[in-house]
Amino acid sequence: MAHLSRVFAQVAIDSGGELILDYRVPDENPAKPAVGSLISVPLGKRVARGIVISLSEQPSTPGLAVEKIRPYHRLLFPTPVIDPELSELGDWVASYYGSSRQAVLRSFVPSGVWKGGVRSAMETWLVLAPEMASSENLQRSPRQREIAVALESAAEKQLPVKEIPGKRSSILAIARKMEKEGLLKVEHRPAGDPFHENDDIVPAIPPDPNPEQRAAIERVFALLKEPTPHPLLLFGVTGSGKTEVYIRAMDAVVEKGKSALLLVPEIALTPQTMERMRARFAHTGKGVAMLHSNLSEGERYGEWCRIVAGEAKIVIGPRSAVFAPMQDLGIIVVDEEHEPSYKQDSSPRYHGRDVAVMRGKICGCPVILGSATPSLESLHNVHEGKYHLSRLDQRVDGCDLPVVRVTDLRREPRQEGAAPSIFSRELAKQMRARLDRGEQTILFLNRRGYARSQQCLACGSAIGCPHCSMTLTYHRKREQLLCHICGHQQRPARACPECGDASIRASGFGTERVEAALQQQFPKARVARVDSDTVARKGRLQELLDAFKTGKIDIMIGTQMIAKGLHFPNVTLVGVLQADLGLQTPDFRAAERVFQLLTQVAGRAGRGDLAGEVVVQAFSPESPAIQFARHQDFDGFAEQELQMRKAFGYPPFQHAALILSRSEDAVAGHRALLDLVPYLKAAGTNLQVVVGEAIPCPLEKAHGQFRFQILLRSRSPARIRKLIHDALAAVNLPKTVIVVWDMDPYSLM
Ligand code: ADP
Ligand code: ZN
Repeated sequence: MAHLSRVFAQVAIDSGGELILDYRVPDENPAKPAVGSLISVPLGKRVARGIVISLSEQPSTPGLAVEKIRPYHRLLFPTPVIDPELSELGDWVASYYGSSRQAVLRSFVPSGVWKGGVRSAMETWLVLAPEMASSENLQRSPRQREIAVALESAAEKQLPVKEIPGKRSSILAIARKMEKEGLLKVEHRPAGDPFHENDDIVPAIPPDPNPEQRAAIERVFALLKEPTPHPLLLFGVTGSGKTEVYIRAMDAVVEKGKSALLLVPEIALTPQTMERMRARFAHTGKGVAMLHSNLSEGERYGEWCRIVAGEAKIVIGPRSAVFAPMQDLGIIVVDEEHEPSYKQDSSPRYHGRDVAVMRGKICGCPVILGSATPSLESLHNVHEGKYHLSRLDQRVDGCDLPVVRVTDLRREPRQEGAAPSIFSRELAKQMRARLDRGEQTILFLNRRGYARSQQCLACGSAIGCPHCSMTLTYHRKREQLLCHICGHQQRPARACPECGDASIRASGFGTERVEAALQQQFPKARVARVDSDTVARKGRLQELLDAFKTGKIDIMIGTQMIAKGLHFPNVTLVGVLQADLGLQTPDFRAAERVFQLLTQVAGRAGRGDLAGEVVVQAFSPESPAIQFARHQDFDGFAEQELQMRKAFGYPPFQHAALILSRSEDAVAGHRALLDLVPYLKAAGTNLQVVVGEAIPCPLEKAHGQFRFQILLRSRSPARIRKLIHDALAAVNLPKTVIVVWDMDPYSLM
């Protein structure tokens, strides 16, 4: 057996489930693959792909005969696609969030890389063989000689095919022939920056940091010198110039030749921010890679390759960018660290901020978490001494935070049995004043569509989705009833499907109805609506924002899309149409979310020379989240909310996890969790994990499946994990039921 290679690669195969197999290094190509390499392997009769997760001198399955182990085929990507630090991070994500290695690897490496390249993002290069003497050139055919001469005079004797004059297909045909004779090599390489780093970017002139900013920057500089720095929470009110602190810190890092990562919430990654960032980093001459969800497969592949190759030292992207393959990471910034969109709601169910903190720990680099409304988790970590804190209490423009007025919708005049009008008297008066003065207004309502539902006046029932426990939203323009959970559509009803009565009407309102009401009440006003219905087309969001910025729009009504990050100096009024909309959700974070949202929305007002005002409409104006937001009192809110969380044993004082079941069969779905409960409770007592009951989820049915949940809580995530692993191994669950679990869940729905 001496002729067989003694190196075995343990390969995580890209397949549905967890599958890790041993392969031998092929004899004809005895170079060891590096850990993290993407390779193709034989799997049964087919060819599969996988990533080398370790190498060993013995097969990992003891007793397996060496001859039985098949050699792998070949490398699919020239360099490892995962470096050792990322691989360590991947192990942590897989174990902490209980997901398969496959699911983790798939989020690390974009689909285009798995496929071995994306055509649109690849370039074909011709590389002259070094041993080819130029005298030999002369004996070639004229076309061959032309190609050889072109390569000869090129830098490093290589050129992309597209830069060689002539027809592409004929050049390629000749080149292939020359390749066979060993005169050159044809190589497929990732193309350069798909966005062609605009030459016309005007470098922005950085403002001078104010004293608060300077103190924060110095703080970060000090952390950069530490070998194992703790994360820093940068708590700065809206408009306090947190971004400037990020940029200066990132600048310092790339100046030293290291790379920097900036995570932003998905919705914040507008072309507006992207341009601003490119402009600010233009002077460094270092590439900026932008990863966002609108990239095509080829674009994503191209950006990823630029990062792996070290061409892009600065990476900006949403949560998944935390896995960007950068070398020598010097800093990670998580902007708006409190944003729920950092949590992924499918496997691996990771939280981008928490993974960032872990990556910083592995790489020994500082992690900056920025927010105007820090998550209670991060604040708690400050209190525990695990995170540092820097505060920016002043707005950079020296403007005061806007004045917030709360109007009680219960006191608004209304006709008997009818809902109050959409705009309170106060809000209507303020909007009129803005229109008269030529100033702008933003209205915020976190519900799209025209009406929440169609409701029967006779029997009171609302038309629901056949697949979900959710009413269908009425969209007037497309004349459809639409399920916002599963996307089910149907024609609006003319009569009640329950009782047959014809007195059916639209009840409740969404952004589409607000737009109509604005046009009716302020016929001269120029109104724009920004929600996922109106900005479905690529580029449309930017058009609307530009129009607003240049004063072509007076009033903008939108969903959470417009809640953050936007900066419009002429906006002096922000109206929140129904502030308590989120307070009714059965979630221990409901108050925190409403407080955050109100604070962020209010931060959109008065960002220029003009003072801002905010009108918040609510049915329960006395609720603490609204009152604290009104006084912009984060510390007061946090103190009260933390006391409550502590009293009830909720995060951040304990970790929570949800076990979820889904099944088309409601009884089986419930049964599965009921069967787990006795085991969980018995074993949970020893492990000090508090186990809740198996109950229907607030959203009982979605996509035709019934949903149930068990909430677990403990100080130790490791013990929760162990308990769930043991329970799932000990209890037999029916095949018709899908059971998953979610560590540190962000949605309890
Ligand atoms: P935040 O993210 O804290 O809400 P930004 O970083 O967006 O605030 O800053 C708000 C605005 O103030 C931006 O237009 C930014 O360019 C500007 N700015 C930041 N720092 C300064 C400064 N020191 N002097 C003048 N303008 C500044
Ligand atoms: Zn539905």
